[in-house]
Formats: sequence, C-alpha cells, structure tokens
Amino acid sequence: MAAAGSERPRPAELAVLGPVPGAPCCPHGPALLFVKTSQGKEEGRRFYACSACRDRKDCNFFQWEDEKVSEARLAAREEYNRSHQPSFTHRQNVDRYKNFVWLPSSKRRFCQECQQLLLPAEWEKHSDHQLLCGITTAQLKSPSQLLYPLENKKTNAQYLFADRSCQFLLNLLTGLGFRRVLSVGTPRLHEMIQSKASQEEEFSVRSLLLDIDFRYSQFYTEDEFCHYNMFNHHFFGGETAHEACRKFLYEENGERVIMVTDPPFGGLVEALASSFKKLMAMWRETEEEGHDNREMPMFWIFPYFFESRILDFFPSFRMMDYQVDYDNHALYKHGKTGRRQSPVRIFTNLTPSMIVLPEEEGYRFCTVCQRYVSSGNQHCEICNSCTSKDGRQWKHCVLCKKCVKPSWFHCDKCSCCTLQKHSCEKSNVGCFVCGKAGHKRSACPSLSCSRAACQPVKKKRQKTRSRVKMEICKRLAMKHVIFSKRKVKNKKKKT
Ligand code: SAH
Ligand code: ZN
Ligand code: ZN
Ligand code: ZN
Ligand code: ZN
Repeated sequence: MAAAGSERPRPAELAVLGPVPGAPCCPHGPALLFVKTSQGKEEGRRFYACSACRDRKDCNFFQWEDEKVSEARLAAREEYNRSHQPSFTHRQNVDRYKNFVWLPSSKRRFCQECQQLLLPAEWEKHSDHQLLCGITTAQLKSPSQLLYPLENKKTNAQYLFADRSCQFLLNLLTGLGFRRVLSVGTPRLHEMIQSKASQEEEFSVRSLLLDIDFRYSQFYTEDEFCHYNMFNHHFFGGETAHEACRKFLYEENGERVIMVTDPPFGGLVEALASSFKKLMAMWRETEEEGHDNREMPMFWIFPYFFESRILDFFPSFRMMDYQVDYDNHALYKHGKTGRRQSPVRIFTNLTPSMIVLPEEEGYRFCTVCQRYVSSGNQHCEICNSCTSKDGRQWKHCVLCKKCVKPSWFHCDKCSCCTLQKHSCEKSNVGCFVCGKAGHKRSACPSLSCSRAACQPVKKKRQKTRSRVKMEICKRLAMKHVIFSKRKVKNKKKKT
C-alpha cells in the first residue's frame, strides 16, 4: 500500500467527542464536547466549548460537562446569545440590497469599517469611517473582492481561491454534469457560479452558499446563502434556512448536486466530518428511493497531511494530486512559477479516473492507478502506486516497506524513515498539522497567512488608501463582522 501521509502518533491535544444532543449553546450554536487526550487516552474532565472559535478571545464559552448551571446563569446566557446575533436579519439585508441596487452609482457606498452596504440615511452614522464610494454592479457581484478576507488565524482565516483554481473547479464539476453546487465555505466559487449564471444564458448551474461569514447575507437571497456553522451543522436561520437547503438538495429535473467545501484548516476534522455526514443525509432523504445507497458527490478541499484523518471518516474518498492555489496565502501556491507548492488537495468520493487534471500544468494519467497524478509523482513498482503526496518524487524504503519523502533517511535506531536531523525516539512529538517539532498546531506556520502574501489582493482593491488606516480598519472589521452587534454602539460612544 501507499504511504498514508501522516502516521505519526498524535501528541497531547484536544479531542472532540462531537456535537452531542442537549449541548449548551453559545452565539455560534450548540457547543462541542471536548476532552484533553494524551497518547490517545482521555485525560481529565470533559467540557463544552465553542464549535466555531478556537480562540477564547473570539468566544469564551466554557462549561464542564457535569457542571450544574443555575437558572439565572441560563437566562443570562440566553440573553447574551440573543444580543450577539447580527444587527440585521438576513431578510432585512435582502431588502436593503434591493434598495441599494436602485441607487445611482454616486450614492452607492460601502463602509469598510463595518463591512456594510450603506443606504443614504445611514451615511451620517458612518461619517468618520472609511467608505468606498461608487460601488459598481461588478463589485456587488464579487463580494469576496469587496469584503476583507477575514484573517483571524484561529477562528476564521479566509483563504480565497486563485482564479486559476476556481476556474478549474468550476470547469471540472460542470464537465462532470453537475448543475447544482452546495458551496460550503467556498464564497469565491459561489460567486463565480452566480456571476456566470447572470451573464451567460446557456450556463445553467446554481449554487447555494453555506458560510459562517454573515457579511455575505448582504449580497445574496435566502435561496442563495444560508448562515451556517460547519463545525456543528447549525443553521442560524432556523427551520426556514434548513428547509431552503433541503429544497436545494432535491434533484429536480435530473439536476445533479455536488457539495464543494474548503473548511478552515485548523483541524477538528471529526466535527467537520460529522456535519458533512448530516448534509449527505439531508441529500439522501430528499429522494424517496434514497438514491440507491449512493453518497452525495463531494469535493472536500484540505491539506494532504490530513489524508488519513479524512479517510478515517470517509473511507470512500480518494485524494487527488491537483494543487489548489490561493490568492492570499504565500505557502499555498502552485509550484510552477518557482514558488512553493501548495499542500492543498481535493478529496472526493467520485471515481478518480473521472477527475481530469490539466496536462498543460504537468499532470499525467497513470494507467495503473487509473488517476491523474503530478508530473513528479512516479509510479512505484513495489508499492504498485503513485506514492508522492506533495508533488515531489518520493523514494521507496525497503525496510519501511513504503515510499517516503525524498529528504528522509532510514534511521536504524528509530527503525523508520525520518529527517536526517532528528533526535532519535523523540522525533514523534510534533505539530499535528505539519508534523514539525517546536510548535503546537494552533501556532503552525503552515496555516498562517503571511502579511506579504496578502498585499497583492489589498493593493488591487484600494490603491489610494493609506496602509495604516486600512490596517486599523481591517482589524475592526474582523472583530465585528461575524456577529456585528457592537459596532453601532461603539460608534455612538465615540460621537
Ligand atoms: N477557498 C474558499 C474560501 C475558503 S476560506 C473560496 O475562495 O471560496 C474558509 C471559508 O470557510 C470562509 O469563507 C469562512 O468564512 C468559512 N468558515 C470558517 N469557519 C466556518 C464555520 N464554522 N462554518 C461555516 N463556514 C466557516
Ligand atoms: Zn461561540
Ligand atoms: Zn501510478
Ligand atoms: Zn514504494
Ligand atoms: Zn525507512
């Protein structure tokens, strides 16, 4: 068999025991049950914490599993949760949008600080904020360019697809005959589909975006966007939103559905898998015959070092060699122009041979493996598989009985292959994400977005504005956008 990527034992870390019935709620829906583990064993008391925010600064919800919570605290919590919902409902935002598009372009303003489209009556309130004026229809059609990518590493880093990758994904899935895309955490793919559909008559693909970033509700109707938390399968819009999603998944007139998701890479694979299984079940239940036990087709976009974790939950999935590129991430870019290669891949339950990768980018078809592979990925006769995970040519180790990274050597003391520079037997304690020693996964450099990498995107959008002001603006925006109750209050205090 091929090497499975990450077989290193997991260091001490938090394990999710899952979304459990009756879990208490924070503003982000039902909390998840966690426990500390060490060498795979539970240690200490179980507790509930926010499903969406890994940084306590963003949501500090915490409760021991066996803790008794007083009525008064429960009531206070409910009040807190209510007050931390967005200031406008999705419905209100849809109405606001309708009014906004009627405005002549000279009156179309967007507040960068509040990340909000403004109606003329509101200009006054935002008078000392950074505004973008003369918002065009094209800008309204690409909100992912208008909005700041959220950069909070721990909670909600948004890494937007490079055009090349987004186009590739769209061509791939239309080529496979899909006409509906459930876009879970893929606003840029959603926006590409929406804008193509509005421009080209013969393009009949539809998309529904599920995302926790409520800013998008300003641009899409309830049939196009649901405010959704993919770590606990929570629809913020309640039963109505749930129903909109169900309706979308129902394959009328043979319009086939595929789900495409690109979750934050910070981990919690088990929580994601549990939600995705629920979405799959929703799809299955829309069909009376139950889709003959088939699975909803899916692309799960995630780094290759999570392969074994994903396959634990979805044994029918296979990892494709295609390297997914991002606009605002230095590390996650395609290798062809001499930059570092992206570690992000597509995991899918579709037949691998159907996933045709672009030959002009060096991918070729391996007839033995029956799938497209990277140019550097050589078929190993002993493993009988194209074994490279990272695009470089891997080498076979007869002692380990598998292919390993080209930079690795077999260490007799550890009796496995590893980096030449390692301290024997201690080498296993490393970051769960990249495997390197010296940091935990929360601080993994491979997950962070370097400042430099974010510049090009920013420059394109506002050439004229001063950088410093922008930085302040952005930080404010990040704090407020997901649940933006406080922004208006702050403003009032200032004036
Ligand atoms: N490459 C994608 C964006 C991926 S970034 C694209 O270009 O379209 C991750 C996305 O997941 C972001 O849109 C972010 O808002 C969303 N997200 C982050 N946490 C989430 C959660 N808990 N539930 C739902 N969506 C979430
Ligand atoms: Zn929370
Ligand atoms: Zn092969
Ligand atoms: Zn081999
Ligand atoms: Zn070896």
